[in-house]
Amino acid sequence: MREITHDPLMLAEPGNAAAHAWRERDLNVLWHPCTQMREHPHTLPLLPIASGQGPWLIGRWLDAISSWWTNLFGHAEPRIAAAIAEQARTLEHVILAGVSHPPAVELAERLLAIAPRQAGRAPLAKVFYADNGSAGVEVALKMAFHWFRNRGEDGRTKFVALENGYHGETLGALAVGDVPLYRRVYAPLLIESLFAPSPDAYACEPGQSPAERARQAAQALRELLERHAGQVCAMILEPRVQCAGGMRMHDPEYLRLAREICDEHGVFLIADEIAVGFGRTGTMFASEQAGVMPDLLCLSKGLTGGALPLAAVLATQSIYDGFLDDSRERAFLHSHSYTGNPLACAAALASLSIFEQDDVIQRNLATSARMAELAAPLGEHAHVADVRQAGMILAFELTRGGDKRTPFDPAARIGLRAYRAALERGVLLRPLGDILYWMPPYCIDEDALQLLARTTREAIDSAIAEADA
Ligand code: PMP
Repeated sequence: MREITHDPLMLAEPGNAAAHAWRERDLNVLWHPCTQMREHPHTLPLLPIASGQGPWLIGRWLDAISSWWTNLFGHAEPRIAAAIAEQARTLEHVILAGVSHPPAVELAERLLAIAPRQAGRAPLAKVFYADNGSAGVEVALKMAFHWFRNRGEDGRTKFVALENGYHGETLGALAVGDVPLYRRVYAPLLIESLFAPSPDAYACEPGQSPAERARQAAQALRELLERHAGQVCAMILEPRVQCAGGMRMHDPEYLRLAREICDEHGVFLIADEIAVGFGRTGTMFASEQAGVMPDLLCLSKGLTGGALPLAAVLATQSIYDGFLDDSRERAFLHSHSYTGNPLACAAALASLSIFEQDDVIQRNLATSARMAELAAPLGEHAHVADVRQAGMILAFELTRGGDKRTPFDPAARIGLRAYRAALERGVLLRPLGDILYWMPPYCIDEDALQLLARTTREAIDSAIAEADA
């Protein structure tokens, strides 16, 4: 196995002294997120990015993962930039407790107007803002728990979540997450959650269809809730795609059944659409594909088009009403200083307008069809076990010989090698273990798509050849 030692960027740009100096200054003072800092810069290069345009990070990398799944319409989108600038000249921030401001109200109205609906259910009616995805998840969990408390149902203290799910890094969000890499160390600190089997279609038995797998997992959920009758306040899940869990996808049937089962047990359904919302899986919200409306809907990431941090939790009128009382203790006192920040709300309003002006959902249909065409030949690759897609997310599962039962030895670091090989070719892929995926800004064009497809194949080949050398 060839060792990973050099910084491929330095080889690619040996004369770039300014970028080199900048990175040295960075490593003197910064502690980067989600990073073993010891790997910088030789195992894990540190990319110098001063600006971005469209799907490109300047330097020269194609942002194939939309900067942690946030970016929708490209970097430095002029309409979003203009909206932020205008808002900054008007009102940059104001406390939202006891105060109202126009962007917060207008955004809430527009989000509620486009939120998923379901026949026979009263629509989502209220919006609570937070300032990042994990904080949004905390809001939804606390709301669900507190609602039952307010009704005197003190026994409902547990959350149900899915195996292999991910909902963020704060302690409450980690407690309902099941990706060992993030969770394991903190497990002693976490509230105890109940985990139901994932409907992940990759885990289908031979001959089993994704819909059958979904029904099987739903049956296990039903049994779990029966065993814990009266103890659970909410179930949380990522509709359609478990993103951080490896872009594992499931049939919408699961969501439909989970909705039914939660109703049977009087349990709230929390849809975490932080990564899959805003057109990512083909429809505005992934829940629409099952015709399902959750009781609480968590949104963030693409909410602002990827420009500023903001989260929104949409709740039913009935949940909201459960907090109305003379007592302040029954109120939802959760707060963050930057709740409903006007700049972020203005960016989100501009982003929603772009969906209308550019007919984004319709255009994405063509882009995702083209992604499927370009990915299809890779399905035949000797070491690709699965190619799966949900709209603007497309993933490749790499295994030894393409056999699901023989994952690569993690010590071979195939994903990291592929990441480095792709960087040398001008593409920022950021594999999840040995799963490579495309989750590009929606504005990606034909040339960039072709570069992405070509680079993905070369990166896979190069990674495996290096590991086997
Ligand atoms: N939920 C899901 C489904 C996510 O993918 C993420 C982020 N990757 C989060 C929650 C947490 O969002 P944030 O990183 O903004 O805290």
